[in-house]
Amino acid sequence: TGELSAQVAPAELGYEGALRPATLAEFVGQEKVREQMGLLLGAAQIEGRTPDHILLAGPPGLGKTTLSMIVAAELGVPIQQTSGPAIQHAGDLAAVLSSLVPGEVLFIDEIHRMARSAEEMLYLAMEDFKVDIMVGKGAGATSVPLELSPFTLVGATTRAGLLPNPLRDRFGFTAHLEYYANAELEGVLRRAAGLLDFPLEQAGIAEIAGRSRGTPRIANRLLRRVRDYTLVHNTAPDAESVNAALSLYDVDEHGLDRLDREVLRIIVDRFAGGPVGLSTLAASVGEEAETIEAVVEPFLMRAGLIARSPRGRIATSLGWSHLGRTPPPM
Ligand code: ADP
Repeated sequence: TGELSAQVAPAELGYEGALRPATLAEFVGQEKVREQMGLLLGAAQIEGRTPDHILLAGPPGLGKTTLSMIVAAELGVPIQQTSGPAIQHAGDLAAVLSSLVPGEVLFIDEIHRMARSAEEMLYLAMEDFKVDIMVGKGAGATSVPLELSPFTLVGATTRAGLLPNPLRDRFGFTAHLEYYANAELEGVLRRAAGLLDFPLEQAGIAEIAGRSRGTPRIANRLLRRVRDYTLVHNTAPDAESVNAALSLYDVDEHGLDRLDREVLRIIVDRFAGGPVGLSTLAASVGEEAETIEAVVEPFLMRAGLIARSPRGRIATSLGWSHLGRTPPPM
């Protein structure tokens, strides 16, 4: 995937870590989620217990990992991080659960990708802080109950609907993270520019915000590319440098990157505007269907460039004109 997509390249991890807000107060935007979360954590602290388990739902790059770390920091407890794909057997989960210290936060990213057998174990662990460990094989196998330390599970998923109901029901609170408004992204960017000691002027901040597709991760990454540009070309930290840097990286004025445009182009050119099924579309651009569904589609739909129909994705007339084509009469 492209350099500027919502996925994280290992080289970017240190940079992301440096810009991560450490407290709820520093977390920019998402007013409602912040207030809901503040109440949940505050009440638990007053009563001296662990808070309800928390599910964070929303597209990549909106702050789910950051929020899980904030939960631990606000509660003053350690955090262990793992992910659904890393839990392939119930045993993998048992090992993590039994290593938790009292009050610890367990963050499971992409929790919808966890093995089925582990899901069942997680139900009991979430409810009663207990697991049943299978000992032995075949006819002689017995299950041994194991008490766990009380913990707070923070699960993250790109869509709450991907979780089986019994799992979803065991979260006391689901935070739906929405794409950020431009004013919120400007706040994210001002904060990051300050931390990077990069005096980007307001017009430049606004320009980056408008091209960041509602996503703080992308805003921060574009900011860094602009900073690189001004360093190497010795230009002023202004909107002109922003425009030059972002056109170099193929980010257009609506924030579409190469993959977004490729998807749109395939719907319009190869399938005469659609409808196209998700798997056909994914195969045509050589990407995983999940990436298209979680990252590309929500953005293109929000921008009004594509729409969903019962038979697949279709390009809207705005989508046609974005590529400089004349839409067919509807
Ligand atoms: P996710 O887990 O949803 O993919 P992350 O929590 O890893 O997203 O956030 C990606 C990057 O965006 C991090 O570097 C983080 O610092 C930044 N970020 C996300 N949300 C905010 C926010 N509300 N305020 C400031 N920075 C944010």
